[in-house]
Amino acid sequence: MPSINILSPHVADLIAAGEVVERPASVIKELMENAFDAGAKNVTVEIRGGGAPYIRVTDDGCGMAPEDAGVAFLRHATSKLHDERGLEAIQTMGFRGEALAAISAVSHIELHTREKGSQSGTRVTLSGGDIQEMLPDGCPEGTTMIVRDLFYNTPARLKFLKSDRAEAGTCVQTALRCALGRPEVSVRMLRDGKEEFFSPGDGREDSCVYTLLGRELAGSMLRCVSEDEGLKLTGFVSSPSAGRGNRSAQFFFCNGRFIRSQLLQAALEQAYRNTLLTGRYPACVLYLNLSAASVDVNVHPAKVEVKFSYEKKVFDLVYNAVRLSLEGENRTAAVELSSSTRKAVEPKPDFYRSMSAESFRSNGYAVEKPKSAPLPTPASAPKPTAFAGFATLRETAETMQQSLDLTAPQKIEKFEEKVQDSTANRVEPVEKAVQNVEKPALPAYQILGETMKTYILVELGEELMLIDKHAAHERMNFDRLRAMDREIMSQTLLTPAHLRLNAADAELLEQNGELLAELGFEIEEFGGDDYVIRAIPADILFSDALPAVEEILEKLRRGKAPDKQSARDEILHTVACKAAIKAGWDTSDAERERIVREVLSGRVKYCPHGRPVSAILTRKDLDKMFKRIV
Ligand code: ADP
Ligand code: MG
Repeated sequence: MPSINILSPHVADLIAAGEVVERPASVIKELMENAFDAGAKNVTVEIRGGGAPYIRVTDDGCGMAPEDAGVAFLRHATSKLHDERGLEAIQTMGFRGEALAAISAVSHIELHTREKGSQSGTRVTLSGGDIQEMLPDGCPEGTTMIVRDLFYNTPARLKFLKSDRAEAGTCVQTALRCALGRPEVSVRMLRDGKEEFFSPGDGREDSCVYTLLGRELAGSMLRCVSEDEGLKLTGFVSSPSAGRGNRSAQFFFCNGRFIRSQLLQAALEQAYRNTLLTGRYPACVLYLNLSAASVDVNVHPAKVEVKFSYEKKVFDLVYNAVRLSLEGENRTAAVELSSSTRKAVEPKPDFYRSMSAESFRSNGYAVEKPKSAPLPTPASAPKPTAFAGFATLRETAETMQQSLDLTAPQKIEKFEEKVQDSTANRVEPVEKAVQNVEKPALPAYQILGETMKTYILVELGEELMLIDKHAAHERMNFDRLRAMDREIMSQTLLTPAHLRLNAADAELLEQNGELLAELGFEIEEFGGDDYVIRAIPADILFSDALPAVEEILEKLRRGKAPDKQSARDEILHTVACKAAIKAGWDTSDAERERIVREVLSGRVKYCPHGRPVSAILTRKDLDKMFKRIV
């Protein structure tokens, strides 16, 4: 490492200065970043208690020359920044030269360091920032920094610390984040002598994520890769069925640095729109790499917030990459075995240590890079033509009456047959050709039947696919309704349904009246608290009119539709759900076939609430279950 210099007061003032040592975890972050900056390949982090009594970070990086070992603890002493120009393109994790000064001021420090290629090393001890001793030392190449009795001389800060357990937990979390950002560095974390985690440091993002976040989370993740004019994004996002209750499993790294970013979070979450259950959040480990000049890390003392020069570009890159991964997900969700079955088929408790990268890959975790087909923008996506016959149908009151007498599945089938008839001749040949080209070839399949009037069983070579018919049909309805650019067909109820509303609900309906009308609902005031539903979307049954409106009202009440687009989606969710065939209903062969084909085409993966529509049991899964293999 180049020798350490003291920044001029001018440059020092330009730096977003601030508190770097708030708690033991901040010490860990700073020491680990120093190790990374020193080019370490192996780093060990050890804590005792909550970290305040003892923190050790050992690395095999470049080490420090004896003359630098003492200087390093002076304020604004850094080897990483020389002048103002350097500030515009920070390549290292550190640059302020503040951390060691701040840490040493509030602890007892013992430093052992030996520069690469040097005959001997140096040992320095400090108390409250003052050097006590500086001696030659026979330590190995690299650096060991031991921080004892953090905040011993600042009782107020010591009192501010939480329980040992909580502080230690934060230390482990912080170290884990740092490790996750550096797949090329092997990090071992010890807590009270016991190993908390270990990352292999083989430079592979997949093994890093797998060993640090565990198999369950890693197993649900999809590869994400994208590049655009000097911006590069790699990493993993969770499949929608693995949504989590909070955002704690969202990890964003920018040039190896863990960051918090509302921009990246929004790009990620928008890409999951309509695929995740409400109140669930995607997990991700995303590595963004861009030129040091296009990101400013000097906006926050702890450097966890950054400012991008091209926010829109970064947003689009992340959004599109995540969308592509979700669309390119070529496997349906893995079968979740019950915990007892899982125990029976999985004898290895220490699974990830003993698992080779190869078997890890074959477990479906490291999905190949999705084909980089351009994202279908709303403008270029082919519009479904199947429902172009609305106008003619609308005119036939008689058809309506008949339609009301049928069950929903019969009705939908009839309706679609009719519509297809009436549109068949009107489809332009060119459009037809385009549609044919875009239809993906389906794998060979055989529909075996249905079980529990809920799951369709499909044989695909050596795999058995189970499809939740309601969930799949709900998604098909939702996509179809959502893609329609005209008003949704409405059916007038012969006997209007009666509804009693309090003032708040009436107000909600009024506010969303226009949207509801667009989507096929006609609701009128009838005097006092009484309202009537005069018409509902043609897809849903009369008996579902009231439940549908009540469900929509409930969503509006709970504030689930803050803007028009989400209100539209929420209403469409309800319509799609009510119009879908239900578990427990009889389903015709033709209908079953249609659902299976849609699922196999890859267009239907999750219901609009984010539940998976299908699951696969492979021969291997079954053989394991029956102990033909172990
Ligand atoms: P900064 O990292 O911002 O430069 P620090 O106070 O963290 O400031 O460190 C001061 C200097 O000490 C660094 O610039 C570096 O030269 C040296 N240093 C700190 N830790 C290590 C280490 N683990 N290996 C080699 N050099 C180190
Ligand atoms: Mg530093």
